[in-house]
Amino acid sequence: MGPFLYVTDLHGNQRKYERTLALAVETGAWLVVNGGDMFPHSRTHGDQERFLQEFLDPHFAKYQEAGIRHFGFPANDDLRTHDPQFDVICSRYPLVENLAGRKVPAGPYEFLGFNLVSDFPFRLKDRARMDDGEFAFPVQFGTGILSRPGGWEEIPDWMAYAGTLPTIEEELAALPAPDDPGRAVYVIHGPPAGLGLDVVRGGQPVGSPATARFIGKTQPCLTLHGHIHESPEESGVWMANVGKTVCIQPGQSASGLSVVVGDLEEMRFEKRILPVD
Ligand SMILES: [Zn+2]
Repeated sequence: MGPFLYVTDLHGNQRKYERTLALAVETGAWLVVNGGDMFPHSRTHGDQERFLQEFLDPHFAKYQEAGIRHFGFPANDDLRTHDPQFDVICSRYPLVENLAGRKVPAGPYEFLGFNLVSDFPFRLKDRARMDDGEFAFPVQFGTGILSRPGGWEEIPDWMAYAGTLPTIEEELAALPAPDDPGRAVYVIHGPPAGLGLDVVRGGQPVGSPATARFIGKTQPCLTLHGHIHESPEESGVWMANVGKTVCIQPGQSASGLSVVVGDLEEMRFEKRILPVD
């Protein structure tokens, strides 16, 4: 099958998208996986809509043209109100998949995607959940909001509202089951707790205990994460193990493109930080 690439948290950086595709061509990769937070950081409706239409759609056409598969999903900074537009764009290209909540076969492997995250201090709650029934909410930066077409809906009591939603633990349990966990690759935007893949600036770990338990129980061959850009710089860790599972969270560098070149048959992974001009 040859190598595949993993990138995450590109936040609409077009040069990083272009560099990723160029590296895929250079390395003969058959697949690029994008771990979410794909759209520009500004979180405004117009910016993200334009990015989807004017950049991502023609960019995916280049993948189709190059014969390289692309699996990705919108995550917590990508407004949920644009999910239908993302779906439509992906469905134009047979090689491009929206992996959110889905199971996609690829040769002898299956890829499964999960783009909900444990709650955080930030106001945008489109994809935020309690981690499990015991979850302690972090201090909040303001009133919770959800994206709606052209605007926002305020949630006056976010904690009460979150209590009515399924937890990360329950949402993970509701994913489709892989045929063979030993050949399953999970792309889960938020990192698991307890491995050093979840460390924010200043040293605090914020990962998901429910995700760590899910990985321990399911034992897929590989899990790919993102969300905490600075974690590898803070902890020095971008790859770890839970039993038989390899867990990877390369973060995203401010100084270049953080990308993992991986080989599933050999289970070999190499992290690179490439200059983008
Ligand atoms: Zn994120």
